[in-house]
Amino acid sequence: MTSQFTVAKFGGTSVANFEAMHRCAQIIHDDNQVRIVVVSASAGVTNHLVTLTQQKADLAERKSLVKAVLDIQDAILEKLTLDADLATDFSQTISEFEQLAELPALSAQQCDEMLSFGERLSSFLFTQVLRNLGVAADRFDVRQVLKTDNQFGKATPDVNATANAAEQHLMPQLADKVLVTQGFIGSDTYGQTTTLGRGGSDYSAALLAEAIGAQSVQIWTDVVGIFSTDPRLCKKASPIARLSFDEAAEMATFGAKVLHPATILPASRSGIAVFVGSSREPQAGGTWIEKETESKAGIRAVTQRKNQILLTLKSPEMLLASGFLARIFTILSKYNISVDLVTTSEISVAITLDNALSSSRPELDQACLEELSEFCHVTVETNLTLVALIGSEIQLRQHEVNFMNVLKDFNIRLICHGASKHNLCFLVEQGESDEVVQSIHAQLLEAC
Ligand code: ASP
Ligand code: MG
Repeated sequence: MTSQFTVAKFGGTSVANFEAMHRCAQIIHDDNQVRIVVVSASAGVTNHLVTLTQQKADLAERKSLVKAVLDIQDAILEKLTLDADLATDFSQTISEFEQLAELPALSAQQCDEMLSFGERLSSFLFTQVLRNLGVAADRFDVRQVLKTDNQFGKATPDVNATANAAEQHLMPQLADKVLVTQGFIGSDTYGQTTTLGRGGSDYSAALLAEAIGAQSVQIWTDVVGIFSTDPRLCKKASPIARLSFDEAAEMATFGAKVLHPATILPASRSGIAVFVGSSREPQAGGTWIEKETESKAGIRAVTQRKNQILLTLKSPEMLLASGFLARIFTILSKYNISVDLVTTSEISVAITLDNALSSSRPELDQACLEELSEFCHVTVETNLTLVALIGSEIQLRQHEVNFMNVLKDFNIRLICHGASKHNLCFLVEQGESDEVVQSIHAQLLEAC
């Protein structure tokens, strides 16, 4: 199934208040190809909802969190009157929210129900803002089509079920109107609300684009595309006009904060171009992520991911022994621990694990360490940052002198290159990593 339509997603800051919503609505008004709009919760709302789901919030605190969420909606409603059809469902949704917030302890399923209110509420308001601009728009409950398993908090989408549901419920409505729907949320086979994990609205947009066979998906955020590094860190960071799916996936995985890493999966699987731009400055252009890029080989960006753990596993038995690595990886997989970088020597293996607070991965388990210690000597180091150079056909030879110049000033704990031509990664001490990134950017990205 293919269509010439486009899906547009607006993040939390883009729908933070009436003025921001109005700017986004203007983008939709001016682009006749967009038929599905995916909205995030208004900025700040999901954080309040997360606190509401935490056991330690007492009644008074819960009340003030509910008020904080409703204040954000009310500030928008001061400038907007909802049409009768939207108004009825909106107040019904608010009552459901208030009722659920009365419960002191929520099950995992109820937590996802609670987290869903941010997107459910913002989508009513955005629909009205679009209608006020003369766009034929309706609100659509994404839980009808975005089908997932029941891993609450980080559900996995069911791509086939989503495509079937979209064909039945979504496609017939797209010819003559724009549907405003929710990012981040979905439903399991029983219709219970699920969420895709924090920042998951980008992923929702790409999944819906895939389900309707869209040409492209636009991710509207607060920056004019993906930069060569974090512009807050390097003043000379510059937006990248085009990236391949592989490069973008590496960047999102290794710490560029602009896109949820899973977004590239459906896009590259189904060949859907992804545009990233700023809803404040739509005329400023942005980054296009596509299958092929004409850009030359080389390093395009440098990213960093803090809070990494380095595990060094040493065994005298590795000398001429086989099965050592298999044994280690079997144990890590048993504990559901995902490994990022690996280097080996004759008698030892070093691996890195992501321990970022935002990470969905479990922290390194004590039981896992004990099991590993039964056959090797284990050292755990923390406070490390993974720095990644990202690009295509990266060949160290081209950058050798500058690269070595940067590295000589810092304590490099581990380097990985070769498995992929799209990255070169190394670990540095966390306290030095900003400086490492600035120095890499100056020597390797600004110089060429
Ligand atoms: N509202 C959700 C969050 O803040 C999802 C998103 O905005 O992408 O994580
Ligand atoms: Mg986001």
